[in-house]
Amino acid sequence: MSDAETLFERIIAGEIPADVVYSDDTTFAFRDIRPQARVHVLVVPRKRYRNVAELAAADPQLLADVVKTAEKVAELEGIKDTGYRVVFNTDSDAGQTVFHVHAHVLGGEQLGLFGR
Ligand code: C5P
Repeated sequence: MSDAETLFERIIAGEIPADVVYSDDTTFAFRDIRPQARVHVLVVPRKRYRNVAELAAADPQLLADVVKTAEKVAELEGIKDTGYRVVFNTDSDAGQTVFHVHAHVLGGEQLGLFGR
């Protein structure tokens, strides 16, 4: 298992410091260290799956928990009413670098279009 595969588990365990926004029994949310928008928070299920497709197939309730936590983060960050984006990068062309599924919650400003 590479370092990239264990990184978020180490953050959840408190072994690597993170700016935690929210946590509960099944999910954990913290600020991205390289923010791509004024608000950029990662929502991670405590249990590790490689990507959103594997999570959806294995544990749809946990995927629902991740989406619910994304909405909670938007509420806590004051962007629920102005709008926000939830992104799951999946494998190499999407630029996934950490193979522990995570939702990017982005907002706090007018976001650009998708693409390159
Ligand atoms: O979707 P992707 O796998 O590329 O996202 C990983 C994200 O984890 C990146 O946005 C990166 O900035 C973030 N990261 C972090 N803290 C770390 C390492 C990576 O917030 N210690």
